Amino acid sequence: MSEILIKNADVVVTMDGARRELARSDVLVRGGVIAAVGAGLVTTGRVIDAKGCVVTPGLVNTHHHLYQTLTRAVPGGQDALLFGWLKTLYPIWARFGPEEIFTSAQVGLAELALTGCSMTSDHLYMYPNGARLDDTIAAAGEVGLRFHPTRGAMSIGESDGGLPPDGLVEGEAAILEDCIRVADRFHDAREGAMVRVGIAPCSPFSVSRDLMRDAALLARDKGVMLHTHLAENDEDIAYSLAKFGCRPGQYAEDLGWVGDDVWHAHCVKLDGQEIDLFARTGTGVAHCPCSNCRLGSGIAPVRAMRDAGVKVGLGVDGSASNDAGNLVAEARQAMLLQRVARGADAMSAREALEIATLGGAQVLGRHDCGSLEVGKRADIAIWDVSGVEAAGSWDPVAFLLAGPMRVRDLIVEGREVVRGGAMVTIDLGSVVARQNQLARRLME
Ligand SMILES: [Zn+2]
Repeated sequence: MSEILIKNADVVVTMDGARRELARSDVLVRGGVIAAVGAGLVTTGRVIDAKGCVVTPGLVNTHHHLYQTLTRAVPGGQDALLFGWLKTLYPIWARFGPEEIFTSAQVGLAELALTGCSMTSDHLYMYPNGARLDDTIAAAGEVGLRFHPTRGAMSIGESDGGLPPDGLVEGEAAILEDCIRVADRFHDAREGAMVRVGIAPCSPFSVSRDLMRDAALLARDKGVMLHTHLAENDEDIAYSLAKFGCRPGQYAEDLGWVGDDVWHAHCVKLDGQEIDLFARTGTGVAHCPCSNCRLGSGIAPVRAMRDAGVKVGLGVDGSASNDAGNLVAEARQAMLLQRVARGADAMSAREALEIATLGGAQVLGRHDCGSLEVGKRADIAIWDVSGVEAAGSWDPVAFLLAGPMRVRDLIVEGREVVRGGAMVTIDLGSVVARQNQLARRLME
């Protein structure tokens, strides 16, 4: 079995049970698994010199809409609140097809990889012109990230009082049928899985109550996870109260949308009772601080969630509302936002890094990922802290979130995905050129 030895790191941040940080240490990878962590390790395989580097578990992204990399900074949508923003973008997204979905996913996945992310979820909730979840799974296979695609859906169009145009919604029977197809075809429940599928109606305001309930029943039947947007902003809460006569937490609970196999994106407006509900049921949260700032949604009560024992991971959210897909920048933003809301001791850089790694892995139900321990999957980010932006730092771990905004090397399941700051799995130049070509075609 092939070996990689990461040698002489300035610090190895393990995220193990004791949160040990090991100075001048090594990590030995055998096959797709971590075989040893410590000093003075040897190998007959490949050696990666990590002197001048901090080594961490690969970061985990728990919420994204990869297709949106094709609609970054679209005029007319940049300064709108959530609902107005969506209405600007829906007609553009309606012109996407399989190639747009595939190429935009490659771009988004590469952007994540270059910023230290080894595992990501994706939420694809529209399938225009023959696009399928399969297109994003093919993209992730080429890029080499561990991938949790979710089969999203919208079923209530404008003519039924919903937000999306009728052309972007699907029939609910067809949605459930395709959920079964992708779960049967792609979901891998085994340890070390590179693809796990989830079921993810877009949001309570774009599908029916029946579909929410049926999706939960189906997910449990198939043993896959559930994901959606919840309690994103004040408009969202008002909609829930007016339309369903209850707050989002109650709506989720009534329809089977709580449990350790469920995670919700945003949750900016969860109240104390809802936080208790999430903690009690093991329901996870994908915290998306940059998107919440960009859309003016508010500051999610992450401090209160963590104190109550809610599982919290990070999400860059789609690139139409971020605008970047930089996961290490997202971790920094998470720390800053809690400090704006609660004071300078509300969140440390180390806690933000924990949320970005171990926290995300817990949210996605991946007990085999998220820390550098013997037997865990070899998903490893190597950060060069010898450059000008880190010069003079006394504590490279606390500094990491403000230091190099990209990884030097990234290993996923024991395979090199990024080496020396460049993608090794795909020809990024030609992918970017194709993406820009597709964006120009959409502008015309
Ligand atoms: Zn989202």
